Formats: sequence, structure tokens, C-alpha cells
Amino acid sequence: MDEKTLKHKIENLSIWTKGDQRAPHKPLLLLYALARYQRDKIHNLSYLEVKDKLKKLLIEFGPQRRSYHPEQPFVRLTNDGIWSLNKSIEPKNIRNNYLMKNDLVGGFNPVVIQLLNRNPKLLEELADKILHEHFPQSIHEDILMAVGLEVGVKKRKTRDPMFRDKILRAYEYSCAVCGFNVRLGNHLVGIEAAHIKWFQLGGPDIEENGIALCSLHHKLFDRGVFTLTNKRQLIVAEDAHGTHGFDEWLMRYHGNPIREPVNPIYQPQETFLNWHVREVFKGPARYQTH
Ligand SMILES: [Zn+2]
Repeated sequence: MDEKTLKHKIENLSIWTKGDQRAPHKPLLLLYALARYQRDKIHNLSYLEVKDKLKKLLIEFGPQRRSYHPEQPFVRLTNDGIWSLNKSIEPKNIRNNYLMKNDLVGGFNPVVIQLLNRNPKLLEELADKILHEHFPQSIHEDILMAVGLEVGVKKRKTRDPMFRDKILRAYEYSCAVCGFNVRLGNHLVGIEAAHIKWFQLGGPDIEENGIALCSLHHKLFDRGVFTLTNKRQLIVAEDAHGTHGFDEWLMRYHGNPIREPVNPIYQPQETFLNWHVREVFKGPARYQTH
């Protein structure tokens, strides 16, 4: 295997899918493994270590689920040709307890390690690839921090500058939540076009799947701190709290509709909003008094 093949394999991870549900298990495990390798040159990770760390990452950056399954990617990554285990595990035994009882150890296979050793820049390139393929840019830094990876995230050129223009125009160049619209000379600063359904999950670049948000509200939206109902009402998660800025930047908007686009045909589409509620929002919603 050469670097190109490795990148190809990383781009084509077989991800368990059911409709458009998010399954960030493998990407998060890979980022964690890259971080361990970068920090301590460790490439054999015990399942005992990984399970709690990965579960935390899944809770923080994955969709809300009734249960979380770190055992799945830990074993199933072997099918992608980049990961190996100290024992082979039959599919029926991919269970948390079984892996723990059998002291399972896993990690990048020797070929991958060799490639990582040969080219010190490769690790960063792989991390960059994984992030851009599975998560919106607004949360890349948060994920890197949480997994403990030290890489400079490349701010890529806007993937589709037309999308940004369309969305900003639809919302009159200001945040649809708070109205923020600071300019430096003729340039807008800190106003972004957010996808409602992430483009990584197939969300299209159209007005009905976007809203203009300031950098702060964009991040809060992509992290699931708030969502929008199909009546455009902003809803804050019950788990969100804070003493400074919480009321000013979130609770004062709770239950209220965000600003309307310039033309009703640009209204966010229900299917995209429902996706955000299901796959990104860290519900349940806060109690509403009005
Ligand atoms: Zn805002």
C-alpha cells in the first residue's frame, strides 16, 4: 500500500448507514488513534482505553442515540484494510463485554504505521481529510481539541462560494438569529452560511437548506445547542447552560421564530430541519413558558 491507496481507503470507509443517519464512529476512532500516535507514538490501543474515550466523543459529536457502541468501529475497521486486532473476532462476538474479557487490542496496521513514519506530514493530511469528509468546518477545532490532535486545520476555500452568496443574500447579510452584521469596510466579518442538513450527509447547496448565521450561532447550531422547528422557532437544548452570555445569546431567542428570508420560497425545508433535530440537536428541548 502507498500513501495514495491509504488516502483512498480513508475516503472510502465503509460506514454503516440507514437512510441519512449519521454514524461518526469510525471517523472519530481514527482521529483518536491518530492523536495517540502523534502524542505518544502508541499504535496498539487496548479496547479498555478506547471504549470510554470513544463513547465520550460519540456523545459530544455524534447524534443522540439510546446507546453508544464503541465496540463496533473498533472491530469493523479491520474490514477497511487499515486496522488490525490482536485476535480475530467473529461478528457475533462484537460486544462490549466480550472485547473487554478478551483483552482486545487494536490499532493501525503495520503498513499504515510505516507510511506514517516515513512522511511526518501524512498524519496531518489524513486528519484533515477525515474532518472535512464527516463534519462541518465550524466544529473541526472542537473535535481536534477533544481527541487531542495537534494539527493546523486548513481552512479550505469555501467549497461552493455560490452557496454562501445565495444564503447571505436570502437573509440580507445578517445573522438570522441575532441580526449581527458587522462590516470592515465593504467586507462582512463573522457572518457565515450554515447548512441545515450537513453537506457531508448529502445536504444540498440550496436556499431551502441554509441560513445565514454569525460565527457564534453557526457553531452553536452545528454542535446541536439549538435547533429550529418547522415553524422556524429556535429551540434551545435542555442540557445547555451558562452564566455569561447564555441569556443574551440563546435564551432570549428560545421559542421565537428566527428572521424570515427575503422571499418565502427560501424558507428552510421541513425535511432538512427534521434531519437537524434528529441527527444534530442535543435534545430534549428546554421547557417553554410561552
Ligand atoms: Zn448570531
